[in-house]
Amino acid sequence: MTTWRFRIKDSGSAGRRLSAMAKSVNFCWNFFKETQITALRRRSAKIIKIQDGSEKVIANFLSAFELSNLAAGAAKDLGLHSQTVQAVAEEYARRRKQFKKLLRWRGQRALGWIPFKASAVKISFADVRVWTGPLSGKQRGRGRGCVSYAKKTFEFWASRILPDDAVIKTGSFCQDSQGRWYLNLTFESSSLQYQSQEGAVGIDPGVKTLATLSSGAKIDGPRLRERYLVKIRRLERTRLSARRRQARSRKFGPLPKRKRVAKLHAKVANARADFLHKASTRLVEEYRRIYIGNVPCKLMNRSRTMAAVSLDQGLGMFKTQVTYKAMRAGGQAMEINERDSTRTCSVCLTAHPRIGLQVREWQCSVCATVHDRDVNAARNILRLGREALTHPGDRKVAGA
Ligand SMILES: [Zn+2]
Repeated sequence: MTTWRFRIKDSGSAGRRLSAMAKSVNFCWNFFKETQITALRRRSAKIIKIQDGSEKVIANFLSAFELSNLAAGAAKDLGLHSQTVQAVAEEYARRRKQFKKLLRWRGQRALGWIPFKASAVKISFADVRVWTGPLSGKQRGRGRGCVSYAKKTFEFWASRILPDDAVIKTGSFCQDSQGRWYLNLTFESSSLQYQSQEGAVGIDPGVKTLATLSSGAKIDGPRLRERYLVKIRRLERTRLSARRRQARSRKFGPLPKRKRVAKLHAKVANARADFLHKASTRLVEEYRRIYIGNVPCKLMNRSRTMAAVSLDQGLGMFKTQVTYKAMRAGGQAMEINERDSTRTCSVCLTAHPRIGLQVREWQCSVCATVHDRDVNAARNILRLGREALTHPGDRKVAGA
C-alpha cells in the first residue's frame, strides 16, 4: 500500500466548497460522539455475568456499522458522498477503540478532513508525462489532475501520475495547518518498484549525524531547528506577551501572528519530511539489504539533552520509511541489536572496554586499525545483520 499526496488547486470556490464539506464531516463526527455520549449516559450498558456469579458492566460502545446506520440518508443533505459518512463512522469507531476514550469534538479549529472510499471518486490525469522506470521522484509531470467527488470536480497539480495498474483503496481530502488542501490517495500497485542494487549496508543511526553507513558515508541530519528555531521562538514570545496584554484588558480579539507561527512550523515539517524521503529513497535504491541499529527513538526523544536534536532529525520517521520502502522494492530492512557494536573492533572483532561518547576516533590495540567511531559501529551492524541472515533468531525482520 502506497499513499501519494497531491496539492489541490484550492483558491476561490474550490477551497470554499471543500471547507463547507469539511464542516459537514465535523458535523457527522460530532453527531457520532454525541450519540456515543447519550448511549453511555442512559446507562444502556450491557451487564454480563461472570462465572463466579458476580456481574460486570461493559459500556455500550457503538460500532461503525451501528453509527453509520444511524446517519443513513444524511449524506445528501450534508453535501457529502454516503461513503464519506461511512468512512467517518469507521474512523470514529476505530480511533475510539484505539484510544479507549471519547474522542475530541471536531470544532472550527480542527483541520479540514474529508475521508472517502475508492468508489466515491473518479480521477483523471491530463497532459502528464508518462510515468516510466523506477520511482525516483525525478520524473515529475507538470500535468493537470482532476478528481470528481459528490458531483463536484476539483483540480490538482499532477506532480506525478499513478501507475497504470494502481488500484485505489481509500483516500481523503485534507488540510494542512495553513489551510491548504491536499488529495491523499492510498493505492496498491505491483509496478511501483525500485531497482534496488544488490548489496547490503549497515547503518548506525545517531544523534549528531542522522545515519552513518558501513561504506563510510554519512548522512547529516536536516538540522532545521538551528535554522528556524530562533524565528519561531521570537514569534512565540510576541504571542505570549500579546496574550497577557489581552488578559489584562479583558479583550479577546484574535491573537496576532498565529498564522505566521503555524506557517513556520509547517515549513519545518515539510522540509523534514522532504529530506527524510529523499535520503531513504536513495538508500533503498542503492542497497537491497539494509541493517539498522535499534536505537530506541522513544527513549532518545525523552532524554532532555538529545530530545531536541533527535526529534528534529526524525530518526523514527526515517526508520519507518526505510523499512516500508525496502519492502516495497522487494528488498529487506532489518533491525539489529546494536549492543557492543561501538566497542567491538570491526576488523579483528576484539571487544574493548566502553568507549566514551566524546571519543570520535580510536585505535584498536590489537590490530592497530584506526576507527571512526560511527563507521566502526555501522560495520559491526552489517556483520551482525549478515549473521542474522544465516542464523535467523529472535531479531526483528521486515520484508523477505
Ligand atoms: Zn582490531
